[in-house]
Amino acid sequence: MFKISGVACDTLLETCGSPLVVYDENKIDEQIRSYVNNFKSNVFDTEVVYASKAFTCTAMLEKLEQESASIDVVSGGELYVAIQANFPANRIYFHGNNKLDEEIEMALSYHVQTIVIDNMHEVERVVALADKLKQPVDVLIRINPKVEAHTHEFIATATPDSKFGISMDLVDEIKDMIAKIDACTYVTFKGFHSHIGSQILATEGFMAAIDKMVGFIKDINVDVSILNIGGGFGVRYTKEDQPVPTDIMCQTLIEALENALAQAQIQVDKVCMEPGRSIVGEAGYSLYTVGFTKQTQNKTFVFIDGGMADNIRPALYDAKYECIIANKDQQPAVRTYEIAGKCCESGDILIHDALLPEVEANDILVMFTTGAYGYSMASNYNRLNRPAVIFVKDGKARQVIARETFETQMILDVQKDIEL
Ligand SMILES: *Cc1c(COP(=O)(O)O)cnc(C)c1O
Repeated sequence: MFKISGVACDTLLETCGSPLVVYDENKIDEQIRSYVNNFKSNVFDTEVVYASKAFTCTAMLEKLEQESASIDVVSGGELYVAIQANFPANRIYFHGNNKLDEEIEMALSYHVQTIVIDNMHEVERVVALADKLKQPVDVLIRINPKVEAHTHEFIATATPDSKFGISMDLVDEIKDMIAKIDACTYVTFKGFHSHIGSQILATEGFMAAIDKMVGFIKDINVDVSILNIGGGFGVRYTKEDQPVPTDIMCQTLIEALENALAQAQIQVDKVCMEPGRSIVGEAGYSLYTVGFTKQTQNKTFVFIDGGMADNIRPALYDAKYECIIANKDQQPAVRTYEIAGKCCESGDILIHDALLPEVEANDILVMFTTGAYGYSMASNYNRLNRPAVIFVKDGKARQVIARETFETQMILDVQKDIEL
């Protein structure tokens, strides 16, 4: 029987129900520590900022706080979780391409240290609201460095059509933004941010972005205290993915940063990075119970008790995963299966051509590397209940998010007349 940090999968399903999202806490801890310990420089301060959109809950935030990591949030909802968890406001970065006034006010009221500004309109809003609330806040400006990094390759060409940030070519507009910020007593310009993509397996795209950002800082010639180089570090979903190990990635980036800054004769106080997926991705497992198998003309389907509602990534962008049958983990693979969810969509297939032992009803199917953008993107489609989330560590288990129930789903099903 396959175990996660010393706990057998059948025990987990028997005690916590099925389907289930399980995190190996040791793996999360190792990743956070690896980033915090290796992303260090003698030249500038460093800060590891976890992108909480990958997976957030109170237990996760408590862990990050203990390990001296910071977080970023991209919405009022993510900020609300952080506030409920008492996450220190001076370690929160607020992102997003269309922050609502009420979200900005919420961030200011909670004394969030830093807002990452997307565009000129947002400068005006943040300045107006900080003035109104008389609340100091630091800001970074998000720059589009026009390095588009994909999984393996990157294209350092003009990609002016990203919805995020302001193109680094628009120097005059960026200077206007800084001038507007400087004119406000409550808002302090601290520096620039860039984020070039996600599930990036090689270092080249990051190196290109670092060079371009440092070159940009030199050209624009303003004092920059903080440079935030974003996240996007890849994980292993299948054997095709060979991510650069975290320690080597961090050391490579630090070296590139130190060299680029020295060459350009620029000093910054602090460099931030923002890993999301690579902190929680490989630590997460999805456990399902097999209902039936079904033979069609060319395929054999395995029907599981979850699917696109708890993991939209295969349907959304053809994401690839690997799986095993936990109770047959010592048996040889004999056949390829389509791992099909229970949602009413033909596209609800989690894995194509999974090579497995003979699969039968009540087998336990475990999907790997589902810890990032799995639960956080989950929905109630077909009114499925979102699974419970369990942390396991050295033979012990604890629930960190309860399973949804039909009753909790009905909480918002409230009828009333609206006075117009
Ligand atoms: C999503 C995001 C990240 C994290 O990306 P990962 O691929 O999960 O590492 C970091 N910074 C910003 C601004 C993001 O939007």
